[in-house]
Amino acid sequence: MGFATDCIHAGQEPEQVTGAVTYPIFQTSTYVQPRLGEHKGYEYARTKNPTRSVLEGNLAALERGKYGHCFASGMSAIDVVFRTLKSGDHVVAGENMYGGSYRLFSKVLEKFGLQFSYVDTSSVDAVRKAIKPNTKVLFLETPTNPMMTLTDIGACADLAHAKNILVVVDNTFCSPYLQRPLELGADVVVHSTTKFLNGHSDSVGGAVICNDDDLAAQIGFLQNAVGAILSPMDSWLVLRGIKTLAVRMKQHEANGMAMANYLAHHSKVKKIYYPGLTDHPQHALAKRQMNGFGALISFEMGSYDNAKKFLDRVRLCSLGESLGGVETLISHPETMTHASVPVEDRKRLGITPGLVRISVGVEDIEDLIADLENAFDGV
Ligand code: PLP
Repeated sequence: MGFATDCIHAGQEPEQVTGAVTYPIFQTSTYVQPRLGEHKGYEYARTKNPTRSVLEGNLAALERGKYGHCFASGMSAIDVVFRTLKSGDHVVAGENMYGGSYRLFSKVLEKFGLQFSYVDTSSVDAVRKAIKPNTKVLFLETPTNPMMTLTDIGACADLAHAKNILVVVDNTFCSPYLQRPLELGADVVVHSTTKFLNGHSDSVGGAVICNDDDLAAQIGFLQNAVGAILSPMDSWLVLRGIKTLAVRMKQHEANGMAMANYLAHHSKVKKIYYPGLTDHPQHALAKRQMNGFGALISFEMGSYDNAKKFLDRVRLCSLGESLGGVETLISHPETMTHASVPVEDRKRLGITPGLVRISVGVEDIEDLIADLENAFDGV
């Protein structure tokens, strides 16, 4: 089936008892067992919940994987992947990624004996050089948050697989509409479903999708053992959001490109980072690896003062953390999403006081541009 069809139907048979076309919210903590030792596949709702199972099947289908597992947040999904490792294992991760992932690695997981090296994963050579005999995972985010740098997933997977290293890709920025890492050679996809997948800024959640039977069994075991599960209500909200993923992403894509062209020619924008522009250093890779360029754009305004004046004047665009909602969200990475990244690293990566990130929503593009034009006038 095509992607848009799968968004609506994959894994979603009408409910068996009533035929409800929208899969219901099974708001229950446990299930009656007809006789001791017999049950209908569901024993306790931390372990398994029908609404969550339907979402997990749907997400696996969209990422063209075999198994999906959902979690209470994107962070808990990422965390669970690393719980399959043991003390003394080494991870190579991108030097620019969501600040919360860096915080999890450096402030939490290192305490349990995991070792991390951070490199510019846009260079396959840098990844090769960072690999050690005890490297077990290569963790990639592409495009990166917020610098919009791409990593060649296929080339990194070839390198990693030759050394038995698991390739994990955070696909939050793209959603499976724009990029399917498993098809490109990755072993595991993680998501913050909070973003494009749910798409309506009304739920926090995460997912892990993979193909390997043993790894899926470990993730399922940890989902139950650790218990950071996605609730039935949130599972239902994400399922509902995904039904319109394909149509939303088409509009995000059109608006993203129009916004990038507007910003690229604005006199108050010093630099713009968007893989859809032909002068982005990895435009060719973006064309090859992604099915579009997305709706996230970062741009440099030269100083904190300029960024603040601009951000204080936006009205239709909402100043706030997060991304991927139908509404346009605008943020200041240095003080918001990436505040946990050390100052010297932020400077080196280009996360400057003047950097602004916009997640372009699906509103009328003329209204968004008029709002930004008014905000620029105050700078
Ligand atoms: N990965 C990326 C790329 C993100 O942008 C975020 C949150 O902004 C996360 C993971 C974490 O997701 P959550 O906020 O659902 O825990």
